[in-house]
Amino acid sequence: MDMVLSAPKVLTGAGEWIPDGAVRVRDGLIAAVGDRASVIADAPGSVARFGFPRCTILPGLIDAHVHLAFDTGPEAQATAANTPDAVLGMRMAGRARRLLAAGVTTVRDLGDRDGLAIRLRDEIAEGTVAGPRIVAAGTPITITGGHCWQLGGEADGEVALRRAVRRLVRDGADLVKVMVTGGGITPDGPPPWRTQFTERELAVVVAEAARFGCPVAAHAHGVEGIELAVRAGVHSVEHASWLTEAGGRDLRLDVVADLAARGLWVCPTVSARWRSSRERLGAAEFEAYLDRLRTMRAHGVRMIAGTDAGVLGAPFESFVDGLEGFREAGFPVQEIIEMATARAAEALGIGDSTGRIATGMAADLLVVEGDPLAEISDLREVRMVIAAGRAYRPDPQADHDGVMPL
Ligand SMILES: [Zn+2]
Repeated sequence: MDMVLSAPKVLTGAGEWIPDGAVRVRDGLIAAVGDRASVIADAPGSVARFGFPRCTILPGLIDAHVHLAFDTGPEAQATAANTPDAVLGMRMAGRARRLLAAGVTTVRDLGDRDGLAIRLRDEIAEGTVAGPRIVAAGTPITITGGHCWQLGGEADGEVALRRAVRRLVRDGADLVKVMVTGGGITPDGPPPWRTQFTERELAVVVAEAARFGCPVAAHAHGVEGIELAVRAGVHSVEHASWLTEAGGRDLRLDVVADLAARGLWVCPTVSARWRSSRERLGAAEFEAYLDRLRTMRAHGVRMIAGTDAGVLGAPFESFVDGLEGFREAGFPVQEIIEMATARAAEALGIGDSTGRIATGMAADLLVVEGDPLAEISDLREVRMVIAAGRAYRPDPQADHDGVMPL
């Protein structure tokens, strides 16, 4: 597909935008970006042109924490475990299309079973099915009976942990996900504040993954788990809820300083749920939640956007709701967009190929009506999505997974 898109504003990423700009897409890559007149002048007359006079073109969005295997229901984990592979695989493909229709052109899947997200990743990359690029962790590593054990990633002790990492590498995982603490969605599993692994065990996981060039993403709700994960040298901390055994929250500034100093990534998984949590938690608790996000930012922690899509209350079509949660906390809009594009790509280790609009990068683009820098909700006004050079329009007839190839 060879085409030129133009709009009054082109956000290239990393804080820059071009007025009256254009982007040329060819063979899946961005062939040119610049002012409209020169990009069009350089393209042969046969190249298809799409002008979007009231729109903004920006890099495709990146949801850095999803679970394509989960159905957003109360039994998401058991359902994923008990659904036949072929059926679950088709449902996952449908969820991938819903993300694409919402302008998401890359996701990091942080927990599937039996390599299903890895398989879907490859099918999308081949162009067999429509969907965002998937960076896949495969099955998360947990303790016997631990958080998300039903997905099949139980491993106890150093030998089993090394074996678990090697299996993931063998099966084609891009990174390793380790459940450092319990979580909310495993009935009878350890509570979210409780640490599942020792520091030594976490260090083994990190070291073994590093031998194969794999970063480690640490699921960590509890304060102690966050601290151990940081000390063990994980690449990213997911959730970072700062839970204590007593049921409270303790944002440990010494750990925050360590997170920032090591340049680790934090994905605080802000989903559409933040709206209902204002009522669920009460005004004071909700404000404290926003304040923890602000404090991490103020101390220089590198944060990225991700929704935990697939778990209860985190649908696949509501990435922008999560971004609005950061807005509610007072993050500048431009920074939020970077957390969902350029910065997320860097965190996922694919900053050289996506997350920005520059010549030679993958053609992952989003066209929205309006100006998201002025009004972040304009990111919902999707007019066209281009993923790896393939163009889609949202299908207005579809209630769920509708994107139509152009
Ligand atoms: Zn998750």
